[in-house]
Amino acid sequence: MNWLTNFVRPKIRALVRKTEVPDNLWHKCPSCGQMLFHRDLEANLHLCQHCGCHLRLPAKKRLAMLFDDGVCTAIELPKTPADPLRFRDRQRYSERLKDAQNKTANGDAIQVAHGKIGGHGAVVAAFDFEFMGGSMGMAVGEALVAAAKLAVLQQAALIAVPASGGARMQEGILSLMQMPRTTLAVEDVKEAGLPYLVILTDPTTGGVTASFAMLGDVAIAEPGAVVGFAGARVIAETIREQLPDGFQRAEYLLDHGMVDMVVPRHRLRETLARLLDLLRRPDPPAEVLRLPLPEAAGAASHDDGPRAGQD
Ligand SMILES: [Zn+2]
Repeated sequence: MNWLTNFVRPKIRALVRKTEVPDNLWHKCPSCGQMLFHRDLEANLHLCQHCGCHLRLPAKKRLAMLFDDGVCTAIELPKTPADPLRFRDRQRYSERLKDAQNKTANGDAIQVAHGKIGGHGAVVAAFDFEFMGGSMGMAVGEALVAAAKLAVLQQAALIAVPASGGARMQEGILSLMQMPRTTLAVEDVKEAGLPYLVILTDPTTGGVTASFAMLGDVAIAEPGAVVGFAGARVIAETIREQLPDGFQRAEYLLDHGMVDMVVPRHRLRETLARLLDLLRRPDPPAEVLRLPLPEAAGAASHDDGPRAGQD
C-alpha cells in the first residue's frame, strides 16, 4: 500500500546493508597475531606462514596428512549411551553433544582410520579438539579400544594423535574409567609385538596425558605443543613459584626427557614411516658383526670364536 515502506525502504536497506562475510575465512595466529587466510592455512597444513606456529588440525585433515597419498579408510565407531548421567550444568549435556556434532560433523571427539604409512599397515586414532575440547568420555574410550583391537587384528601399528583437555566431566566416573581401559587397550597392542606410537599435539592434558598418551614406544610431539597433566596456572598457584619459560611445551619436555622427538608437521609422515621401517623390519638392515672384545676379556674366552674385523 505505502510505496515508501514497501518499495523505498527495502531499496535503501539493500544499499546500506553490510555485505555478509562468512566468519571462518580468516583465522588469527595465536602466536604472532597475523591474520591467516583459510586457503593459505589449508595449503600449509594449518601452519602459520609468518611464524611457523602449529595451529590445531581437525581430525579428518590429520588422518589425510598422515597416510600415504592421503588414502585411508575410516571405521565406524562403537555406539555408546549418550548422556548416561543426565548431566546438566548451564546447558544439558545432550544438547552440548548435539551442538558439537553439528559444528564438527563428527559423532564424538575422535576418528579412527586404517591404511598404509610408508607401506606399513597402520591404524590411526586422531582427536578433534573442536569437539568439546577433545575430552575423553565413553565414546572416545570405546573408539581407542576399537582402534587397538583393529591394529591387533590387522597386525598393524597403532598411532594415537591426542589433542585433548582431558576427561569429559559431564560423564563423571564413566569418563575416568576410560583411563585404565585405554591403557589396557594399548598394552594389548604392545603384547602382540606391534608398535604403538603417539604424536602429542597441542594440547594434550589431563586424563589423556595420564593414560594412553604417555605410553607410546616413541613419544613424538609437534613444535610448541602444550603437554602436561595439570595446567601451568594451577601448578604455579599451588607451588607459589614462577614457572620456567616454555614450561610444558614440547621443546621443554624434550630437554627434560619426557618426549623423544619434536617433529614439524610436514615431516610427521616421513618420520612415522622411518620409525615403522625400523620397528617392523623383519631382518636387521645390515650384516650383524660382533663387537670387538677388550683384549683381556678376549684372551680369557677363546671359545668365543673369531672376532669381527680380525680375519
Ligand atoms: Zn603466526
